[in-house]
Amino acid sequence: MAINLFKNINDTFSLSLPADEKLENHIRQVRKAAYSFVNPTPPSNPSLIAVSKEVGQLLGLSEEDLQSDAFLEMFSGSSVHTGTKPYAMCYGGHQFGQWAGQLGDGRAINLAEVVQNDQRWALQIKGAGLTPYSRSADGLAVLRSSIREYLCSEAMHHLGVPTTRALSLVLTGDEVLRDIMYDGNSAYEKGAIVCRVSPSFVRFGNFQMFAAQRDHENLRKLADYTIQYFYPELGTPSKDAYIAFFKAVVERTLAMIIHWQRVGFVHGVMNTDNMSILGLTIDYGPYGWLEDYDPNWTPNTTDRQTRRYRFGHQPQVALWNLAQLANALYPLVEEQEPFVEILEGYKTSYSGRYYDMMSAKLGIEFQDASDIKLIQELVDTLQLTETDMTIFFRRLTDYSTATIYSDDKVLDHIKEAFYAPQELQGDVLESWYSWIKKYLDRLKMEKVSDEERRSNMNMINPKYVLRNYMAQLAIEKAEEGNYDLLSEIYQLLLNPYEEQPENEKWFTRRPDWARHKVGSSMLSCSS
Ligand code: AMP
Ligand code: MG
Repeated sequence: MAINLFKNINDTFSLSLPADEKLENHIRQVRKAAYSFVNPTPPSNPSLIAVSKEVGQLLGLSEEDLQSDAFLEMFSGSSVHTGTKPYAMCYGGHQFGQWAGQLGDGRAINLAEVVQNDQRWALQIKGAGLTPYSRSADGLAVLRSSIREYLCSEAMHHLGVPTTRALSLVLTGDEVLRDIMYDGNSAYEKGAIVCRVSPSFVRFGNFQMFAAQRDHENLRKLADYTIQYFYPELGTPSKDAYIAFFKAVVERTLAMIIHWQRVGFVHGVMNTDNMSILGLTIDYGPYGWLEDYDPNWTPNTTDRQTRRYRFGHQPQVALWNLAQLANALYPLVEEQEPFVEILEGYKTSYSGRYYDMMSAKLGIEFQDASDIKLIQELVDTLQLTETDMTIFFRRLTDYSTATIYSDDKVLDHIKEAFYAPQELQGDVLESWYSWIKKYLDRLKMEKVSDEERRSNMNMINPKYVLRNYMAQLAIEKAEEGNYDLLSEIYQLLLNPYEEQPENEKWFTRRPDWARHKVGSSMLSCSS
């Protein structure tokens, strides 16, 4: 079938970068090319199970378009849109700190780019079959991980966190074999395809690949292309522009990390191939949301030993990844100093930005070292007994300059946040009293009214996040063919900062059953 869904489709944009000359789809090492042409493998019986009207609108698609046969054909990979040449990108990366060589889009296929209201959007389907980069894997994705990616990309966007978006979720009708916990228990699962949408899917690893191949000509082309289309404010390519480019990537990455720390998001696999050159959250795999505030927590069981990608380590890992990007860009600049300086700058900016962000969560305007102390004491106190991050910060707005301190009542506002209220005794209780006392004193120094502070706090402390068990519940229902919960949670997370009285049930601590459950607190890279 010829697809003519988009009038604004563009196949020339990324094609300004060098392509792999071979056209056949077999697994290989690719040289001197940014991508390889490859068509999706048509699934046997595709059906659309979720679609984002909002992302559709960004692309100029009407609701009717989203429900059309052409839409399903295109985003299930059944047919290729007229005038386009889908491709998979070549990139490498450091996985868990080790250089892994060529990785590439092993199961993601860029269908095309559309331009809408002067914004370019790349459309990429994930799970539509083998590409030259599939290595030993099958090019497919399962329903469970596709739901997680679909829900979380949109939830993050609405939380104000830079991220790739999700347009659609399609069931392929094919079965996919996976060993979820890598323990020899393989089973068939439903296959699915998510369409991701982003101005670009270029990663740190795209630059690293050319650098590793000492292909400086293409490295330069890739940098020039990225600057021209995505950092046009940096002007014409030059040594200075490459340095400014690196600085801009550092700034965007830092901004993204601060957001992650603000909302309690743990990416789980911050390999350099999973770092967007635009500072977007990308590749939702074994990610998770902090429930009890534990900086050592990672949802990724594959990383259980070293916990490299634990919540509290994300800022340092981002810096490490940026240093790898600096190494990759070095041949374009041939001076170490500017890179070192920018990376040093990350450390100083990080701590300033972190304390500003935490102050904002507390509803105070950062003043001096005594605020640093207040924040650090809070971070320590939160860990004394399991305390739910989201509930704690959201309920903190219940304190005001009018709150009268009294030992036995003062924790009432935040009591819902404690997983084990019986542990609130002795030193733990004293620490909490002491912190609240300081916080109440500190609030009195603020110039804004209680009301204004409350409303500011509610704009940065979400009421609803995609708790790990929520995604898991939606998955379990979807696996039975019921998509109501998927749709309910999707809707809920469109307005994460708003009070939604009918949805109060999602503003509760993680239920006990989810504490050690596969899919809720334990996730692997198997997807
Ligand atoms: P990830 O851990 O999802 O970031 O993936 C790391 C690399 O493995 C990337 O190059 C992916 O494209 C590739 N990959 C992951 N899963 C599959 C799969 N099922 N088929 C082909 N390639 C895959
Ligand atoms: Mg990846």
